[in-house]
Amino acid sequence: MGKARPVTAPSTKAIAVAAVAFILLLIPVRGEAAPLLRLGDYGESVAQLQRMLLAAGFDPGPVDGIFGPRTQAATMAFQESAGLVIDGIVGPQTWGALNRLGGVSRGTGPLRGRVIVIDPGHGGPEPGAISYWGDKEKHFTLGIATKTRRYLEDQGAVVVMTRYGDYSPGSDWSPRPDELLARVSIANSRGADLFLSIHINAYPKDPGVSGVMGFYRAGSWESQRLARTLASNVSASAGLRYIDTQVGPYYVLNNTYMPAALMEIGFVTNWNDVNLLRQDWFQDAVAKGLARGVREFLLR
Ligand SMILES: [Zn+2]
Repeated sequence: MGKARPVTAPSTKAIAVAAVAFILLLIPVRGEAAPLLRLGDYGESVAQLQRMLLAAGFDPGPVDGIFGPRTQAATMAFQESAGLVIDGIVGPQTWGALNRLGGVSRGTGPLRGRVIVIDPGHGGPEPGAISYWGDKEKHFTLGIATKTRRYLEDQGAVVVMTRYGDYSPGSDWSPRPDELLARVSIANSRGADLFLSIHINAYPKDPGVSGVMGFYRAGSWESQRLARTLASNVSASAGLRYIDTQVGPYYVLNNTYMPAALMEIGFVTNWNDVNLLRQDWFQDAVAKGLARGVREFLLR
């Protein structure tokens, strides 16, 4: 653009003002500097609003940074429950009420408002891999997932599990669920920031093989970074050998919309790994490593 001549000066100034206003709208929400948001707005501030509504128990739809009708409806439902003016516009009152809510819930840590989906592998009629000594993968994955959930919630995250017990995901709403579709649907419908699937490996050809592996979606640099961060943290925390991270052609990785990793933690074909996986302190060390990895990934 050329230098502004006197005749064009007012419009240049108007453009500058509009640009400043636009930049102000894009500044992420921090304390008092919260922007006014309404139907039709978009950006990181809207995504932040959506995360806060989710954490408060309201459903704004996917966390996509677009202030659409569903986010507006969730905003109005929240305003009604908080005794505010129900106008669907997010101003200082609504931001304040959402912040206070975060303050009184356990969501005060660095992961406040982040939605994390933990997917314990297998479950119900699907035991997963079975060790020579009868240990079932599905029990180990649920144990580690439940402990990981607690560590993430302590840091303020909203954690959704694809199953909370020994059943097939989806069987709580359908008698014959497609368990893989259910795992993916839970993550996509919540607009999760991150998807973590937990499994235990098996390699019958060589019972000596032990360690941790991470898998990620082909072409997703973020998922690759997630898998690497999780594997190195689990290795450091639990003392398992870091074998490798690689592309994994798995349904749950290829059909989720967010950074996703499938972690294979130890081998049911290795006696030492199985012996460790049976121990509460070891599952706890793995969970600490996973939670640390999630934090490192999200707060890079
Ligand atoms: Zn598995």
